[in-house]
Amino acid sequence: MNVSLFNPGLYWRPLGGNNIDQISGHCYQYTCVHQALKKTSIIIDLGKFDNHQALGIKNSVAAVPDIKNLLTDESLNLKAIFITHSHPDHLNGIVHYIRAGYKLPTIYGGKYTKMILDNLYEYYQIGKILRPTFVVINDGDCFKFGKMKIEAISASHTSFDCFGFIISDGETTVYHTGDMKVDQTTYFRKPTNLKRIAELADSINYAVADFCGIDNDGFAFREADVLKCLVKIIKKSQKKKIFFPVYPTHADMYILSFLAALKLRKNVIFFGNEDFYDYLKQMNRYGIDFAKMAKGKIKLLYAPSPEMDELGDDYMVIGVFNDVGNIFNANSKDSFALITAKTFFNPLKGQMNARNIKFVTVKEYPILQGAGHGFVEDWNKIAAILPNATFIPTHCPCFVAESFRPLADFLGIKLINPIPKNNYLYKLEKNQYTLLSKQPAVWLVAKDDLALAEVWQKATSGIGFLKRTFSRRRTVQKFEMMLCKRRK
Ligand SMILES: [Zn+2]
Repeated sequence: MNVSLFNPGLYWRPLGGNNIDQISGHCYQYTCVHQALKKTSIIIDLGKFDNHQALGIKNSVAAVPDIKNLLTDESLNLKAIFITHSHPDHLNGIVHYIRAGYKLPTIYGGKYTKMILDNLYEYYQIGKILRPTFVVINDGDCFKFGKMKIEAISASHTSFDCFGFIISDGETTVYHTGDMKVDQTTYFRKPTNLKRIAELADSINYAVADFCGIDNDGFAFREADVLKCLVKIIKKSQKKKIFFPVYPTHADMYILSFLAALKLRKNVIFFGNEDFYDYLKQMNRYGIDFAKMAKGKIKLLYAPSPEMDELGDDYMVIGVFNDVGNIFNANSKDSFALITAKTFFNPLKGQMNARNIKFVTVKEYPILQGAGHGFVEDWNKIAAILPNATFIPTHCPCFVAESFRPLADFLGIKLINPIPKNNYLYKLEKNQYTLLSKQPAVWLVAKDDLALAEVWQKATSGIGFLKRTFSRRRTVQKFEMMLCKRRK
């Protein structure tokens, strides 16, 4: 990339998270080239690629975006890694670089992100001396590296302390949204700071935007509405035992299901795998005190136990489980389940079917999985706030972003052209952008011997995942329908 950086200006390159199929393993490089051609670089996020097995390396444990040159080429002057939030596809690359012996610059992220990272360090037995400095950031914090200025902007997502960043070299300004929706009803978290974004609107030229939910019409589900809906569904079921499996990394659903139970005066039994209890512990340490919230109105158990008998079979089981077995003596007369993920809880569905227990899924109620990513109207709203901004899609297969283009044109959302793939290099100027290079990306595959093996990105390596999630024809149709609706 170095060869292309001979003119002053701001350069942007997605290193992971941006391809036809590799839409996890987020990592984005921003490099500012100063007048005297001195450079300053930062990266935003250093995630792991969920589908690393598809890269075909034996004994792989993870795959991470390739930031080797940023870590070794001193002229690039990598000053910081900013982390948008605590999810593995944005955070977990850090430990694999440290394990492989690399020294990372200072990391900036939220308090909860630091807690999850510290937990990862413990898990991978990374000693304190090897851990990079971590600076805890808050909404509105500003940082300066050479001519590059970075401001943290809070973001509504499914975890705590989620951020976007405003990045400026004094000429060009980018709003890097991080994973987010515009919802202002998030529980126990700061919502997206629309006020600050509006204040900065005139100067913002680009929005590097989370298009993960772009193929959904309307606004992303508001958490207040999710809660209302949960209460309604559970009431309607008229069952005493409610099974509510939650996706392990999505703190919002732990909270919303608990609040629904509280509202319905239903006792709660937390029940899950190690991962679940780990996250629950972190949430507690972070300050989400479920026992305090219960205020004696409902009873709270942290595992199935003989005390269950005292709950009169009137309880909600919240957790990560695919096996209710005989523990809860669930039967069709007294039990009901709400299945909150597309495929993750498939074995549980099987169990419920075998026992004739009724359940609802995200198929009938998409709202059940909550939403951390903006839908079409979220981005339409951000585009209305940012009239000068060109949108750069991330977190989304390229063909999905490309299929969105006719609707984007109709709505007046300016989309970059072409949609960036991993390792495309752009120069971003106030009034124009230039695609400078289209080298294919490299992934570094971590193996159990700690080494990082280089693998060229293949267009097919995520196909299995994609087929389950997106169909090209259906995506195009969906956008056509949205456009049709608006033309009427
Ligand atoms: Zn996320």
